[in-house]
Amino acid sequence: MKHILALHTGGTISMTATDTGAVVPSDVNPLLDLSAHLDGIDVISEEVFNLPSPHVTPTQMLTLSRRIRAAESEGIDGVVVTHGTDTLEETAYFLDLTLDPTIPVVVTGAMRSSNEIGSDGRYNFLSAIRTAASDGARGKGCLVVMNDEVHTARFVTKTHTTNVATFRTPTFGPIGLVTKDGAHFFQELINQQACPVDTVTDNVFLLKAFAGMDGTLFDALPATTHGLVIEALGAGNLPPATLPALGRLLARGVPVVLVSRCFNGVAEDFYDYEGGGVTLKKMGVIFCQGLNGQKARIKLIVGLSGGKRGAALATYVNNAVS
Ligand code: ASP
Repeated sequence: MKHILALHTGGTISMTATDTGAVVPSDVNPLLDLSAHLDGIDVISEEVFNLPSPHVTPTQMLTLSRRIRAAESEGIDGVVVTHGTDTLEETAYFLDLTLDPTIPVVVTGAMRSSNEIGSDGRYNFLSAIRTAASDGARGKGCLVVMNDEVHTARFVTKTHTTNVATFRTPTFGPIGLVTKDGAHFFQELINQQACPVDTVTDNVFLLKAFAGMDGTLFDALPATTHGLVIEALGAGNLPPATLPALGRLLARGVPVVLVSRCFNGVAEDFYDYEGGGVTLKKMGVIFCQGLNGQKARIKLIVGLSGGKRGAALATYVNNAVS
């Protein structure tokens, strides 16, 4: 019999709706009794914390990563993490970057709370358990299972505020499906090297570029800033009025990482005009390919927390699969 460790962290999947329709944290997590329904899979449940996911920080992500690392030596065959969907992709990617698990690690959540009509919590939890218990889930990094689809933590993102089909993988698509008879995989993932961390670097910020942006927000970043990610325009360009402040930030030694604010595609340096990607790269901006802004920030935090600096940090952050 497979032993799956379910680590609960809160989110809508563990919440209930009141008579007025407000969604609130439950006194007792409604998923805790689900193990009785699972034929052939032993589910061991633990509540690591109970937070709406906008309350989750990289420190809690590290707590979770440590717990999963310990589970590997406890005879556990797979881990399921339940989590609020708002920051689920960030926690899942943090786990993906910091762990090199020999067992499957699957993160799931829900868009409708436990007592709402059409609640997807128990269903997603069950799908995640089946995926974590499947041999095909090994060696694919941290996975996200929602709404019958298996996504990589590396590329999945929340795309809709309320729809149950909110989790999508732009550009690349899901790598598998959960059907009535279990998880099926249709794509392989290029492996990456884990970067284990003991602490998490704070003050790594994320800014989104917009038409007419100037240097105000760059100059407003505190002296304690350890890193910045910019969601740039199109293929990877910025308005020219941002450049002086950006230059000041780089001169202070703050690593600046650039991704595109576009939903699909990757950031590249091929426009050679003032503020174009070619200028930005020459200034020392690190281009990160294939990640969205919130995930590039997690990668920058993990790289910095793992002691990477300068060229080593740039190489680590540059490529989504390194
Ligand atoms: N606001 C909720 C959370 O992230 C949303 C959810 O779980 O679906 O905690």
